[in-house]
Amino acid sequence: MADPIADREYDIVIVGGGPAGLTAALYAGRNKVRAALVEARGAVVDGSLIGAGGQLLNTELIEDYPGVRSILGPDLAEIMSEQAKQFGTELIGATVQSIRVEPDGTKVVETDQGNLRAPAVIITAGGNPRKLGVPGEAEFAGQGVSYCAVCDGAFFQGAHLAVVGGGDAAVEEAIFLTRFASRVTLIHRRAEFRAQPILIEEAQSHPKIDFILDTVVEAIEGEGKAQRLRLRNVGSGEVSTLEVGGVFIFIGFLPNTGLVSEHLEHDAGGYYLTDPMTMETSAPGIFAAGDVRSQLTRQVTTAVGDATTATIAATKWVEERARHAGAGSEGAVEALAQASE
Ligand code: NAP
Repeated sequence: MADPIADREYDIVIVGGGPAGLTAALYAGRNKVRAALVEARGAVVDGSLIGAGGQLLNTELIEDYPGVRSILGPDLAEIMSEQAKQFGTELIGATVQSIRVEPDGTKVVETDQGNLRAPAVIITAGGNPRKLGVPGEAEFAGQGVSYCAVCDGAFFQGAHLAVVGGGDAAVEEAIFLTRFASRVTLIHRRAEFRAQPILIEEAQSHPKIDFILDTVVEAIEGEGKAQRLRLRNVGSGEVSTLEVGGVFIFIGFLPNTGLVSEHLEHDAGGYYLTDPMTMETSAPGIFAAGDVRSQLTRQVTTAVGDATTATIAATKWVEERARHAGAGSEGAVEALAQASE
């Protein structure tokens, strides 16, 4: 069991240990500010954070991270965790329950292990897959209903699988699932795709993939596991049944943006609006990076870029605050002194 955290004080607390959080930890460590990263899925073993990596852990192969031709997601996560540890940011395995702001601007990050206090917080909490919300979805989750092809694809050897969605994730994962499935049917509610044309072309020319368009899933049915989808064509209203061995749902992502007790400006999808120069949210001293932030696309590269900016900006913000407060935080003052040497 982890040691309880008794109201520890930092300059920056990083919430979440995906690529953005691990990058923030790396930069905070190099900036020599007193920083901690809190990750719910993480467990600290010999100072290393095991289980960090966020969605990298659910990604098989990464081929679009510059400088690395090809790497397994979990391997990249492990390297990022090691690099974060190397520069001295404290890594904590705990679940953040809320973030509140005290009258003097101090942020209190409340976790199931105790509270962390800091003038600045960087939220890199990622999010969770969006659910269809149809009958049978929750009932058969883990019994033929999946949100992770890398995690579950191999359990469906030789099966006819359905994939729901029309974005990059749905098309990419449909292609990935052809490794195991006898056939993959991609079901999308429109005839146009959000996915990149190169992915659509690959799926359209794949002998194992077929498409059902302008169609929604109304129910997932089966005896003990998902076996059938009840479909409805949104144009004609025609209802049909598709027999499947499993269904993979990739219809987007819901950001974990409900932790902060006070209102932060966000877009229609719930993603935080941030200053493009600093990644600061509408609350002074609360920064956001990665999948919680409103932006055009969400890639590993954009997450690490956001986090780099957010951490440098948060460091400057803490330094300024310490300068105005006179003495202020020792860690930030130390960083200021080093920066001016
Ligand atoms: P997305 O781009 O938001 O696409 C979600 C898809 O699900 C859309 O086609 C949407 O349909 C559909 N959808 C949403 N709600 C639905 C519902 N209730 N019922 C049926 N269909 C529904 O999400 P994503 O594919 O997860 O991608 C998220 C971000 O990650 C994107 O920025 C994407 O570019 C990025 N990403 C990139 C890569 C890559 O570059 N290799 C891989 C994965 C993800 P409509 O189109 O009709 O709205």
